[in-house]
Amino acid sequence: MPDCTEPSKPGNSLSCMEMLQLILDGDATPEQQHAFKAHLDECMPCYKEYNLDVTLKVLIKSKCNGKGAPPELIEKIKSQISQNLPH
Ligand SMILES: [Zn+2]
Repeated sequence: MPDCTEPSKPGNSLSCMEMLQLILDGDATPEQQHAFKAHLDECMPCYKEYNLDVTLKVLIKSKCNGKGAPPELIEKIKSQISQNLPH
């Protein structure tokens, strides 16, 4: 029996970034979403990245009425948000 399972790892074999991508794309299962939310409490990089992307999506939606935003605008907003993040 393996003794090196990491309880704080989200999902079974996914890395932080893979899990984050699933969540943001809406492809995660309810179990994965639950595991990831618990993981956010203890993983600051995931927490920051997750909040950055969620904020970005909300901003883009409100600015563009749900239509696709031009990539330049996305980059602009993204850099503005990351400048405002505490380091
Ligand atoms: Zn993480």
